[in-house]
Amino acid sequence: MKISTSIHMFNTDYPIGEAIRRCKAAGFEALDFNYTDYVPRLIGMSWAEEERWAQEIREAAELHGAVFAQMHGPIHGAAFDSMQPGLDLDTYAAYSERALRTAAILGASWVVLHPGNRMLAAAEPSAKQLAFNRNVYLRLLPVMEETGVGVALENMFDRPRGGGRSVRSYCAAAEELAELVASLDHPLFGACWDTGHAHMQGLRQGDSLRVLGALLKAVHIQDNHGLTDAHLLPYQGTIDWKEVMSGLAAIGYQGDFTYETHGYFRPVPLELMDSALTFAVSTGKQLDGLFQLESTGTRQLIG
Ligand SMILES: [Zn+2]
Repeated sequence: MKISTSIHMFNTDYPIGEAIRRCKAAGFEALDFNYTDYVPRLIGMSWAEEERWAQEIREAAELHGAVFAQMHGPIHGAAFDSMQPGLDLDTYAAYSERALRTAAILGASWVVLHPGNRMLAAAEPSAKQLAFNRNVYLRLLPVMEETGVGVALENMFDRPRGGGRSVRSYCAAAEELAELVASLDHPLFGACWDTGHAHMQGLRQGDSLRVLGALLKAVHIQDNHGLTDAHLLPYQGTIDWKEVMSGLAAIGYQGDFTYETHGYFRPVPLELMDSALTFAVSTGKQLDGLFQLESTGTRQLIG
């Protein structure tokens, strides 16, 4: 597996070219672009301006011999009827389409987006949520086919919504995510597995990964203690990493091993960041070793 990371350990005011250079120098073999963090700025930009901006990022990546493989697209918010300020269903679709076009310029194959609850106030039956989410994401298909960039939908977790009440989140379960992605029934739709979200949900990740199987195209690797979505480096929380790696091996996962670990990186002063990045790469390599070992075991079992 290629060891990859979002470049969001650097904030959005930090020069993107320098962020790419430092991640590449630390040994990351692929990168994830945190488009979502730039959305507040992009909302004020025309497409022509965004296109120029994306081309500059692509050139910076090429200069440093780095490759963007995936991207985190816009985040709609707590539910589709309660979006981030400035977003509604139409603008969310429009910005997601722009994200797909920007991903195409960067050379990224997958844009990760969040499934969501239709309403903030109450959980609804899974079938209703499935139909709603399916319609939202099918709107993107023409631009996906035009650009060749896929959409990987990510697993969520139950969380307090309004007044501290915990409401079921649609696609917190791998079964729901697999059903949604399978219903979209197109090679450009896939699933992204966020290990931290799954841990918050208390899932047995090996079992969940086996439910997703070949639908899994991307991962967000992050750790936590099961209490907050902390986005730590593996081994800093309580996830069973052997189980995760063995699950990925069992399904023959072909994608990158991509960190979403801003909780680990953000407190680190800039002058220590290169060491922090290098340690993250070493951690990824050790986990990839477990993956390779399990993959060989799985192949021998099948053989
Ligand atoms: Zn994630």
